[in-house]
Amino acid sequence: MNMSDSCGSLFIGGGPAGIAPLVWAARTGRLKLLAQTGLVVVEAGNCLGAGSIGDHAIGSDTLADTFLECVENSQDERLSALRTHPSAEAVRRYSKGAAPLPVVAAFLETLGRTVQDIIEAAGGQVLLGHRASGLRRQRTGRWLATLQTVTGESLTVTASKAVLATGATQRLDDLASIPVAGSPLMPEFAGKLLLSGEVLGHGGLDAIRRYLRGTAAPKIAIVGGSHSAVASANRILHGMPELSLAAGAVTILHRRPLRIFYPTPEAALAEGYTDFGPQDVCAVTGRLYRLAGFRLDARDLVMRALGVGGRPAEPRLALHRIGTGDADEQGRSLLRSADVIVAALGYRPTAVPIEHADGTPWRLAAGSGTAPLVNSACEVLDDAQHAIPGLYGIGLAAGFVPQGAAGGEPSFVGQTNGLWLWQNPIGAMIVEALLQGESGRVAA
Ligand SMILES: Cc1cc2nc3c(=O)[nH]c(=O)nc-3n(C[C@H](O)[C@H](O)[C@H](O)COP(=O)(O)OP(=O)(O)OC[C@H]3O[C@@H](n4cnc5c(N)ncnc54)[C@H](O)[C@@H]3O)c2cc1C
Repeated sequence: MNMSDSCGSLFIGGGPAGIAPLVWAARTGRLKLLAQTGLVVVEAGNCLGAGSIGDHAIGSDTLADTFLECVENSQDERLSALRTHPSAEAVRRYSKGAAPLPVVAAFLETLGRTVQDIIEAAGGQVLLGHRASGLRRQRTGRWLATLQTVTGESLTVTASKAVLATGATQRLDDLASIPVAGSPLMPEFAGKLLLSGEVLGHGGLDAIRRYLRGTAAPKIAIVGGSHSAVASANRILHGMPELSLAAGAVTILHRRPLRIFYPTPEAALAEGYTDFGPQDVCAVTGRLYRLAGFRLDARDLVMRALGVGGRPAEPRLALHRIGTGDADEQGRSLLRSADVIVAALGYRPTAVPIEHADGTPWRLAAGSGTAPLVNSACEVLDDAQHAIPGLYGIGLAAGFVPQGAAGGEPSFVGQTNGLWLWQNPIGAMIVEALLQGESGRVAA
């Protein structure tokens, strides 16, 4: 293999988030500059772009058309040419609705192939089938990444700056430290617990069926107030017609109020939705609950459950707001009586082990509890909340909260995991940070 062992910017993980800043750079004509400073993208899988998004057998919570914006108004013709690619047409068929995530993944894979061509043509390198096993900061301030190939070869690459885009995971063990209605789901309910990622995956309904076998009047509890929780409810309510689900058979137990997205506060008021204030409106776009609000299929179900907008009721679904105190007896009893519990309590970033120059582990803030991986500049945080120099993070569960020009409602707490944000303001921020101090080196 002919690869330089030294580069300016190293991307670890080339899924939807990892390629997003590179898509932004290609669209805006900055990729060539980034490649000139030395760009290497390392991806464990055999292609860039799709990552794990297609593992979910559900529709997107993003408008189908939004996925295609990245090939509009591009300075790079190779991206523009994708507008008419069959995989883009397949997404466009869903237009103003939800596109199935496997269809989105096929488009992202095409996008990834094109981004790879653009990177390589500009002099950068893409290493597919290479998994980073660790990053060590050298005394020079550069990063040394150790990589393993699928055939077991080991190699290293050094970089001035590195971007972690390795995705996120859900683990049952993490549930042992998250109290739900007074105490954690694990280990008490280990025998009837599924993760939302499993339920939303391709074999997800079979997993539910296994728990419900022989149960005449099944009861299902879904814990969480995120898109994954509501998408799990939608999948169960609509994907298993053979189940006889009585009124209230499926309950979503959620801590925060469930919010509904509207294009404007006026549109919300016109439908009788009044559960908001000025802090819930995005200053940049004027949208209501732009970040916290449910969209598309999940929005429809939440509106039915809340009785908003004249939607027909969904009697099989009940909502239970988990009490803020230690004990929530009703919540506990819902959990106890459920035949299966779906935990939709979020994802944790995976990252790779990071070490100081002397080989001691560099503990990350994200290593414990629910702390974010990154700060508002996408810099990775250590366990003292200090930004680690030259190390950035992006992607699912990285914990980035948009603010300023990126917009979003001021009341928003939590994290945003949208591809559009990564391909636009967040991607721009990362590319500019990578180029800082590097572009002069190229010019010289
Ligand atoms: C149920 C669900 C629905 C979603 N729906 C939407 C939606 O509708 N719209 C939207 O915009 N977003 C959506 N998202 C959020 C987000 O877009 C996806 O989760 C997306 O897959 C996250 O991209 P990622 O790159 O962070 O992680 P991943 O997709 O997991 O990609 C990570 C990549 O890094 C690689 N990798 C991992 N470790 C290493 C390593 N050590 N070395 C080298 N490579 C490595 C992997 O092979 C993979 O390709 C959804 C998320 C979930 C969970």
